[in-house]
Amino acid sequence: MSLKYDYIIAGSGLSGLSLLYRLLFDKDLQEKKILVVDSAIKTQNDRTWCFWEKENGPFESLVCHQWKTLQFFSPQVSKEFEMKDYRYKMIQSGDFYSFVLDFASRFKNVTFLNEQIEEIFEEGDKASVKTGAGTYTADFVFNSTGLFHPQLTEQNTLLQHFLGWYIETEESKFDPLVGTLMDFTLAQTHGTTFMYVLPTSERKALVEFTLFTERLLPEKEYEEALSLYIQEKLGISKYTISHTEFGVIPMSLAKFSPHIGKNKRIINIGTAGGYTKPSTGYTFQFVQKHIGQIVYQLKHHESPVVSPSFREQMFQWYDRTLLDVLLTKSLSGEQIFSSLFKQVEPERILAFLANESGFWEEFKIRNSVPQFPFVFSGIKQLIGLGKK
Ligand SMILES: Cc1cc2nc3c(=O)[nH]c(=O)nc-3n(C[C@H](O)[C@H](O)[C@H](O)COP(=O)(O)OP(=O)(O)OC[C@H]3O[C@@H](n4cnc5c(N)ncnc54)[C@H](O)[C@@H]3O)c2cc1C
Repeated sequence: MSLKYDYIIAGSGLSGLSLLYRLLFDKDLQEKKILVVDSAIKTQNDRTWCFWEKENGPFESLVCHQWKTLQFFSPQVSKEFEMKDYRYKMIQSGDFYSFVLDFASRFKNVTFLNEQIEEIFEEGDKASVKTGAGTYTADFVFNSTGLFHPQLTEQNTLLQHFLGWYIETEESKFDPLVGTLMDFTLAQTHGTTFMYVLPTSERKALVEFTLFTERLLPEKEYEEALSLYIQEKLGISKYTISHTEFGVIPMSLAKFSPHIGKNKRIINIGTAGGYTKPSTGYTFQFVQKHIGQIVYQLKHHESPVVSPSFREQMFQWYDRTLLDVLLTKSLSGEQIFSSLFKQVEPERILAFLANESGFWEEFKIRNSVPQFPFVFSGIKQLIGLGKK
């Protein structure tokens, strides 16, 4: 059985549902026949998305908290900064899934299929998705499953892994106006290691123990690190844990293909399309930019393959360079981020990490970090020696 659609969205997580929402929101595209396939039913609040942006984003109504003031701590630097343009925002994935699924339920041209995808393949100017329930064909398949992931090895990939606890205290312990972006005043025994502290009220905060290393830790180590930090650094002895999240995000030099097949009928989106920033693991804001561009191109009857601009290619090179420095252990994350936060205005660092800085800012950023490891890794990545 082969059923025909305009678009198939393979994987209905962040990128798949962002695409669905923006297609349905567009009056020129909202009548397209769309099939959405996922093996999971997206009802759980399985992750918290934090990101920074200047303007309101497409999911602004879902932002549950935002911070104008952030802190950075390391043994050498202690900084609190108020941002002029950017806001650091938080969205709960559970709110996002139910918002998009509720919106989509009004459209009869959208079908949901709860099945494991076995294969996605191109056939002439069409692409098909094979599941146990049948094979489905469309003009384009937008894939965010891991079916086309490159091989991730300890040589080409660092894992960003973290355990987060939402804690609640009896007394007021937090300032909900101030978030801690990175606190490096922790033992760096395993590699780059820091805490986030994101208070959403005077009595509630997400505290997240985060590492960039080759391997995961035993579960107990994350829990011990969190307990110790909450007790000793935050000075809190009485609290309850209302929610936990554990995550692993690949930070990789391996090439995530933007599309599959010679007719470019399978378009990779989200992490699968390379939209997880290799040097930081942040994905949310890059997915939104990519999806916005896909929808724009479809609306203008163009191919949905998005070609990176010269500036975006430059940012990819910066990213690969930074990740190569971390992977080769020429410098630690703590050393790199401390140098940056010591010498550069923090909001400019955020602009740089959002791929939104200008040449002059990039020049200052390049000059604020130890030159040799970056020049070495930069040349390696430029001439392709770093391709793994
Ligand atoms: C706990 C956690 C916290 C995170 N926090 C942040 C953050 O604060 N900020 C940020 O920018 N990024 C964050 N990330 C990284 C990134 O934003 C998320 O991983 C994001 O969900 C990636 O979007 P995606 O669409 O690529 O993949 P996903 O959202 O994971 O969606 C992929 C979908 O494909 C489905 N699927 C996979 N294989 C198959 C198959 N064979 N058949 C059918 N369905 C399949 C899955 O069920 C899933 O629903 C976090 C990640 C995690 C895990």
